[in-house]
Amino acid sequence: SPKWDQSCDVLVVGSGAGAMTAALRAHDLGLQTLVVEKSDRFGGTSAISGGGIWVPCNHRIAAVGGQDSAEEAIRYIRAVTHGEIDDGRIEAYVEHGHRAIEYLEQHSRVRFEAQEAYSDYYPEVDGGKPGYRSMDPLPFDARELGEDFQRLREPSPATLMMGRMTMTMKEARVLLCRGPGWVGLTLKVIWRYWRDLGWRLHSRRDRFLTLGNALIAALRCSLTDRQVPLTLNCRLERLIEENGRVVGAELVHDGCILRVQTRRGVVLGAGGFERNQVMRAQYHPQPSRSDWSATPPYNTGDAIRAGQALGATTALMDHSWWAPTTHVEGEEKQRPLFVERALPGCIMVNSAGQRFVNEAAPYTDIVYAMYENNREGATSVPCWLIFDADFRRKYPCGALLPGYAMPDSRLPKHLHSYFHKADSLGELASKIGIDASGLLRTLDRFNSMAEAGKDQDFKKGDSLFDRYYGDPTVQPNPCLAPLVKAPFYAVKIDAGDIGTKGGLLTDVHARVLRDDNTPIAGLYAIGNTAASMMGRTYPGAGSTIGPAMVFGFRAAEHIHAAG
Ligand code: FAD
Repeated sequence: SPKWDQSCDVLVVGSGAGAMTAALRAHDLGLQTLVVEKSDRFGGTSAISGGGIWVPCNHRIAAVGGQDSAEEAIRYIRAVTHGEIDDGRIEAYVEHGHRAIEYLEQHSRVRFEAQEAYSDYYPEVDGGKPGYRSMDPLPFDARELGEDFQRLREPSPATLMMGRMTMTMKEARVLLCRGPGWVGLTLKVIWRYWRDLGWRLHSRRDRFLTLGNALIAALRCSLTDRQVPLTLNCRLERLIEENGRVVGAELVHDGCILRVQTRRGVVLGAGGFERNQVMRAQYHPQPSRSDWSATPPYNTGDAIRAGQALGATTALMDHSWWAPTTHVEGEEKQRPLFVERALPGCIMVNSAGQRFVNEAAPYTDIVYAMYENNREGATSVPCWLIFDADFRRKYPCGALLPGYAMPDSRLPKHLHSYFHKADSLGELASKIGIDASGLLRTLDRFNSMAEAGKDQDFKKGDSLFDRYYGDPTVQPNPCLAPLVKAPFYAVKIDAGDIGTKGGLLTDVHARVLRDDNTPIAGLYAIGNTAASMMGRTYPGAGSTIGPAMVFGFRAAEHIHAAG
């Protein structure tokens, strides 16, 4: 057996929310735990995310006036996953999810609140809810992190006001459509940022952490409280197996090989393979490009391949947490369009100028529709978001602030290539190379449906979920308005993702399985390193980080129980 450089009970690979939850629970169960992270920042995609978790029956539901039951939650997940996940993971998630989150709140610095109005993504399906199951992390003061703040991955620019000020999800929603109190709220966000005057002299980075940054900072501080070490610039290279059991791992730390013996187990929480072009070409529907992803560039499927090398089986490799994304010149990752598609006054079209999807549908479904409808003469990978001058003035869109705050005449130079603009729809179509007569026909029909407030073709605005990001001041349908006012705009949309969801197949304890369904002793996978328990769907906001954390928690408990 190899000469070990170091040893521990549990090695946790990756520093996203799931990995750190696993480390925290493992430590609390008396296991000596190490966390290693490939990049020079901790937090992964979890840190740049909304930080929301979707947890049925969570302990905060009653506080926001809701109710839930395990039966309803299980019926709902079964229905939206079309019965494809029948191995007990759904039941395990519903049973242990709220327990894991309650544990974190009682024993660490992590805090959540339930979102009363953030509806499940399919609220009309049996067991679906109009809110409560999605939870947001509470803001966190970066001062608690001390020096570690420098090493926390920066938030996504998409989540910042004016590219620098942080907001909570609730605040962002009010500002999105200038809801009641938006002027006061804007001033509050600005004041919060500038009153940190001493710090402003050092850095433009906001110390009022929200969303994924708040969650990751709270987890990191909780690990520091426990003196659980985190090693940056340290990547998993391969797993070391003896007699069918994982006994250690070979890591590369600052260019040097480090062999770590793991007495009890390895938890792989190293994200998916979205940034690996070779794997995308091998597994995904085509075309598929790693630079369409909205995630940081480090999740290259290393841990998935390390598991495969030991005979682990995989599932869902041709699926992703798809999200339509847009390219911004000079940015390291693309920007996802989570909300703007739902707002009134825009449509999505293919190269024939036709609509092909409910623009307000959950982001994962949008990209499924892009692939399903992609054919010669009517290309939908990529497709186009088309909007008019009213939409441009009133709402943000990807990297564009609303025109009232940032008119085209004042746009920074790097955004000039973000969109196309023309005085007529015909001219716009020819600028972006799509069929002009098709686009005109589509808009004729769409505009009359929008006037009537009913989308006969794709039902935009029919679901409660669609309306969550609609503009409530627009009636009768907050997601529909005709596109009539020139100039007209087009933004190119890629078939992007917020992480892949295919990976190592795991069981109810997050153990990695072989082809014959037997577990590989000592090996666990969570988050996007594991094949998702949500199948090909996205039940509600927080469906990726929720399971990552809960199965991280479960993995630690199983390692402890397995002795
Ligand atoms: P990550 O959080 O990416 O962590 C993996 C870590 O492993 C990374 O730090 C990576 O550098 C490291 N790593 C990779 N390879 C190695 C290696 N070989 N050795 C060591 N370390 C390695 N999901 C939700 O549920 N709720 C939301 O609100 C939400 N909002 C989002 C908003 C945005 C803008 C985006 C982009 C995504 C959002 N998502 C959200 C999706 C979610 O963030 C990701 O699916 C999730 O964070 C993935 O978690 P993970 O632990 O698998 O990976």
